[in-house]
Amino acid sequence: MSSFDFDLFVIGGGSGGVRAARMAAGRGARVALAETLGTDGLGGTCVNVGCIPKKLYSYAAHYHDAFEESRGFGWELDAAPTFNWSTLKANRTKEISRLNGVYANLLRGAGVTVINGFARIDGPHAVTVATLNADGSPGHQSFTAAHILIATGGTPFVPHFTGREHVITSNEVFDLEPFPQRLLVVGGGYIACEFASIFNGLGAKVTQLYRGEQVLRGFDDEIRHFVAGEMVKAGVDLRLNADVVDVRKTGEGLRVECDGGNVVMADAVLYATGRKPNVQGLGLEALGVAQGAQDEVIVNEHYRTNVPSIWAVGDVTNRVQLTPVALGEAMVVVDQLFGPAAGKAPRSMGYEFIPTAVFTHPSIGTVGYSEAQAREKFGAITVFRSEFKALKHTLSGSSERTLMKLIVDTASDRVVGLHMVGAEAGEIVQGFAVAMKAGATKAVFDSTIGIHPTAAEEFVTMR
Ligand code: FAD
Ligand code: NDP
Repeated sequence: MSSFDFDLFVIGGGSGGVRAARMAAGRGARVALAETLGTDGLGGTCVNVGCIPKKLYSYAAHYHDAFEESRGFGWELDAAPTFNWSTLKANRTKEISRLNGVYANLLRGAGVTVINGFARIDGPHAVTVATLNADGSPGHQSFTAAHILIATGGTPFVPHFTGREHVITSNEVFDLEPFPQRLLVVGGGYIACEFASIFNGLGAKVTQLYRGEQVLRGFDDEIRHFVAGEMVKAGVDLRLNADVVDVRKTGEGLRVECDGGNVVMADAVLYATGRKPNVQGLGLEALGVAQGAQDEVIVNEHYRTNVPSIWAVGDVTNRVQLTPVALGEAMVVVDQLFGPAAGKAPRSMGYEFIPTAVFTHPSIGTVGYSEAQAREKFGAITVFRSEFKALKHTLSGSSERTLMKLIVDTASDRVVGLHMVGAEAGEIVQGFAVAMKAGATKAVFDSTIGIHPTAAEEFVTMR
């Protein structure tokens, strides 16, 4: 038994932190986890203000189209359906609280000591947590640990401009009151595009401003153009090469002046201009923990910092900001510190074929290289594409179209990119990601029997 209070002290009860704490305790380690938001906030960004509430709101937004489209299938709605924002918010709150409780139970069941409060690292093996005394006054508790894991995530970044105090971020958007009839979204990344689609579907008049030529930089160019076109068709007023000059509060709402002198009036302005690592107040500078240009914690391939007893995973390392990536990284740390599961080799993380979805309407699902990236990496490539109206929309009256694309390395015949815009793209692409990780060639795709009639079968019938 070591002389430290704990074998592992985890800072942050989000995706990466909870996974690491739970799994380390399962391997017999003595583990503590500190979470600023307390036990009621366990689950971090993903559970409280990220993936889960976002996807629930995305489902809500889809009903708008579903009601419309049902008429083509013979359904007659007695009256125009109405949307109750308060009901959605209340039901979401209930579900998120349930999930917070599930996380708390999982940690308790695994034997992890959960400490409510903001943690600071005082030394290579020392952590102090700002806690409350029994009488409610501010206090603190100090602990020692053989290893410390930083899993503090990230926080929304909003650039400086006049009127910045009037805008909100994804942290506030879920609880807006009242429902914003006019929403201005600034940014062209995952969050901006998803919330533009969600609020458009929920019935708001949505304007989206993006400073560049096309939204979703980094995705396959054709996919970017296609999804932007579909979002515009669905009603989003997308303005490219546009940015905000200032935001003023007036009697008629927020007056947003854009470059070029254009003015947009809005009830709420959502800034989705990226996120920055949560490192403030952690004490990293004093300890000499190496950080990068965005203040991210720098780690090696095992997520160890330059201070050997301190490790970091997830968004705080500012690499691929996705929940499953934070979970995977946490497992690498646990294997390094406490050994792999019986009979298994220690895990490592590969970043090459990480599948991802953007829950726009219609959604994007993608894995592997874009056409441009593949051309640069592999030289000769073959591109297969299929664009069509999904079977459902032959009766639904919707003009939504689907795009699917395969990128094949000509020399090896390996499928190195698979991209889709269409209904349930994430659900479809997950399975194909397994095949691509396994190195599937186009010949293997061609010899796979399709499931008919689905959109997914297109991926195995493209010639
Ligand atoms: P987090 O989940 O952010 O957890 C960090 C925790 O640390 C927080 O609970 C915080 O309170 C706590 N903390 C911070 N500092 C301290 C401190 N000093 N002491 C104690 N506690 C501290 N990813 C997907 O894969 N799919 C999606 O659909 C998706 N949708 C998203 C939608 C939105 C709106 C956002 C913002 C993100 C979304 N993400 C999605 C990204 C995903 O949520 C993150 O990548 C993931 O949560 C990162 O996990 P983490 O453990 O690094 O950090
Ligand atoms: P992103 O990095 O995806 O996008 C940020 C956007 O803001 C970009 O369009 C960027 O433009 C723009 N931007 C940055 N700085 C400025 C500025 N100063 N002025 C104007 N525009 C600016 O970040 P998000 O906030 O959308 O999301 C953060 C991360 O969370 C994502 O990268 C993703 O990893 C994760 N996430 C995942 C989801 C999913 O899996 N479905 C959903 C939501 C989030 P430019 O491209 O020109 O730099």
